[in-house]
Amino acid sequence: MQDVQTFIFVCYNLRPSDLLAMVCVCKYFKNVLDENINPLAEEIWRNSRNSFTIFRDKEPPSGMNQQTFTRLLTFEKGCQFCKNKEKTLTIYWIPGVRSCQDCMFPRIISSDILESTFKIDNEVLGIILPVTPSIDLPKSLNKHTHYWIDHVKNVIAFLMNADDNMRRALNNLRKDVGKKYEEVRNYEKWMFNLRQSYLGGQDDLFSRLHAEINKETLSMMQEDHEYKKFMTEVENNPFLDWRQYKSRILQITQRIENNSNPLLNVQGK
Ligand SMILES: [Zn+2]
Repeated sequence: MQDVQTFIFVCYNLRPSDLLAMVCVCKYFKNVLDENINPLAEEIWRNSRNSFTIFRDKEPPSGMNQQTFTRLLTFEKGCQFCKNKEKTLTIYWIPGVRSCQDCMFPRIISSDILESTFKIDNEVLGIILPVTPSIDLPKSLNKHTHYWIDHVKNVIAFLMNADDNMRRALNNLRKDVGKKYEEVRNYEKWMFNLRQSYLGGQDDLFSRLHAEINKETLSMMQEDHEYKKFMTEVENNPFLDWRQYKSRILQITQRIENNSNPLLNVQGK
């Protein structure tokens, strides 16, 4: 009992990325952090997000638990599928994934293919929530609505086994689909506004940081591979906290200055 309390106390003071790592350590940690098993887990995740991230004071969408919400917002982990951190990452709230656009392509299907190839009519599509924000397929001129393939499979499997009563119940479901879509769009707007505001803040931050670096180092830095990679990363993931920017840039400047200092080079030989 004492051990559980100590463990829970420790968890209360961990960052979301550490909690997510704990979940993978063993079954015991996983269970303590599972909201269906431990009633305190919900507060652990909420507290961690509120204390260590900018996504505070926001509760998950209906039907999503705190752990999933926190996992989705952990942008520093990159795309959930390919782990890339340099591409633009988007949260697709309907399937509940944080992904780059490339990884979405094999997981979605467009409304025109569902209608023309699989003969799925509008009535069925009306009970499946489309993936949003919309995804632009390469070489595609027309914008189509896209659906998460697993959602389509689930609905079709359900309809194949449904009797008339079930089908009637689906009409009620259609209303819920509209409400859920509205809710999701609000989360998208929240994310969009947050991203814009952090991107704006970054410009000020970088000009202040750059003002502290001497001109020669700064011009070498603009050509530096690691610096360029870092800039792409922060542009696509503007939610890093400011201390992380500063320490990464200091490391890069120090390396550049050490490399360009002839005395250090001579000593190194
Ligand atoms: Zn990806």
